[in-house]
Amino acid sequence: MTDISPSSEIVNSGFISILGRPNAGKSTLLNRLSSMHLAIVSPKPQTTRHAIRCIVDDDTSQIVFVDTPGLHKPDSKLGEKMQESAWKALGDADAVLLMIDAERPGPSVLEREVCSRCAAYGKELFLAVNKADKVPKPSLLPIIARYAALHPFQAIIPISARTGDGVDVLLDELRKTLPMGPRYFPRDTLTDQTERVLAAELIRESALRELKEEVPHGVGVLVERFEELRNGEPAGEDDRDRVSIGAVLYCEKETHKGILIGKGGSMLKKIGTNARTRIEEMTGCPVYLELLVKVREDWRNRKGILADLGYGEEK
Ligand code: GDP
Ligand code: MG
Repeated sequence: MTDISPSSEIVNSGFISILGRPNAGKSTLLNRLSSMHLAIVSPKPQTTRHAIRCIVDDDTSQIVFVDTPGLHKPDSKLGEKMQESAWKALGDADAVLLMIDAERPGPSVLEREVCSRCAAYGKELFLAVNKADKVPKPSLLPIIARYAALHPFQAIIPISARTGDGVDVLLDELRKTLPMGPRYFPRDTLTDQTERVLAAELIRESALRELKEEVPHGVGVLVERFEELRNGEPAGEDDRDRVSIGAVLYCEKETHKGILIGKGGSMLKKIGTNARTRIEEMTGCPVYLELLVKVREDWRNRKGILADLGYGEEK
């Protein structure tokens, strides 16, 4: 995190690594947090293994949530890289937030691994039992008991990322654990680079959501064009009235391309509509989104493309 110039103000500040199986609700929580609070920043994401997803800033604290690119089984260069980088991110963070789905609580291999890594690194670990709105309250107790027996969690907090229940309690707990230090980011920071990177992430998420398991981990998104416009002319973040984005979805096989495009383009349209809505929430202005699908066989093993997509070499 040396590429960040901190402000001199001293507050409770630090980095929280957020981990959890797919569908635990990490994105939902981050979306909620970034709508409740101020800034979303991602400085130089291509040179850091931390994907900074959201910053929760107030007068006395700054919590920087870092997302981890995924902890699935390493089955390719991308898989290994991602996994390596995910565990490293965990090692660097001030504390770790593990998120589980109350309907599918586990612990599975991932949750156990997070616990044992945190124990090994001496990292404080918090557990958010998400989707508490979906299960009867008494059924949370055995889940909490099971996890408490597994690891000495700093706190175990039932939440609903969807309704917001418990989220403030969770934030209070996280704040308490952070050391006194500088604000790592100026308040209200939001850069073009950030939006560009987040746009790619939102497109990728929309694709994965629509595709279910059909093209697992096989989609990479490259935002080739990110133009801020006012009356059709180049403009800045403050005076733009539209953002025009061109992105390429990379997949590994012709058959995947077919799935991504869908019958008469229907799938690509769905992905685009969903992604555009979410990107518009971020930019606060209308977005024109153009998506292309390209096959790059074995793209996950190609260094050049990996670097373009932000999975760069470690410094
Ligand atoms: P991620 O893979 O961990 O990022 O999970 P997502 O945030 O994409 O959430 C997966 C699914 O669970 C989505 O359909 C969310 O709408 C849903 N979800 C997330 N949090 C909650 C919650 O607190 N309650 C309910 N009922 N659904 C949730
Ligand atoms: Mg997600």
